[in-house]
Amino acid sequence: MFNVTILTIFPEMFPGFLSYSLAGKALEKKIWDLDVINIRFFAKDKHSTVDDAPYGGGAGMIMRPDVIGDAVDSVLSAHRDTKFIYMTPSGTRFNQSVAKELIEFPHITILCGRFEGIDQRVIDEYTPYELSIGDYILSGGEPAAMVVLDACVRLLPGVVSNSDSIAEESFSYGGGMLEYPQYTKPKQWREHKVPEILLSGNHKKISDWRRKQSQALTKRRRPELLDGDINDKFT
Ligand code: SAH
Repeated sequence: MFNVTILTIFPEMFPGFLSYSLAGKALEKKIWDLDVINIRFFAKDKHSTVDDAPYGGGAGMIMRPDVIGDAVDSVLSAHRDTKFIYMTPSGTRFNQSVAKELIEFPHITILCGRFEGIDQRVIDEYTPYELSIGDYILSGGEPAAMVVLDACVRLLPGVVSNSDSIAEESFSYGGGMLEYPQYTKPKQWREHKVPEILLSGNHKKISDWRRKQSQALTKRRRPELLDGDINDKFT
């Protein structure tokens, strides 16, 4: 079982879209488990303050280390084996290989930042795995954590019914290429026909054609994926 604890000031955002479709069914089936903790419970004052102005000046507010530290400790004391992750634009870029790594942990804890982020001393104290979902700034770590979890959960055994469909997808297929084009009914739509080869029933020819399509698309769009096995790069 893949166990997840989320630390957030917006617990009501969860499970959000993770309660739908594959991830939602897997949550019902207890293939994975989600525990959401409100960081505000650990605030020290009656207003439940979690943030304050940055020392040295500057815009925005920073999440306080004393509040976050107590929230993190509460999880660590219950789950000594947890992999502690902090969502941040400065982190390692999340990808399919990182998702595969994360599902191997019996428990992960994801800290979602808000405002201008968290006090550096939280990072110095716990050295979390710092993870980014891309080069842009979100207003909070919650949507980023959900993206990470969605990608992880669909890799868990029993979530996607046909395990071939995971192996055949972009970033897994052929050692990390983009997916080949796919077609379904009708055979002709407007002036567009399904490529003849896919109707031939010749499995060898079909798989060769798909591989060539994948290679050409990857070369055109994401040539760096062909430089080697992408799955080696981030582990
Ligand atoms: N001042 C920070 C950005 C803070 S955004 C900086 O310049 O790097 C507020 C919070 O949103 C962050 O603490 C982080 O938890 C989350 N966040 C924003 N963009 C993200 C991204 N691309 N990946 C992961 N988390 C992100």
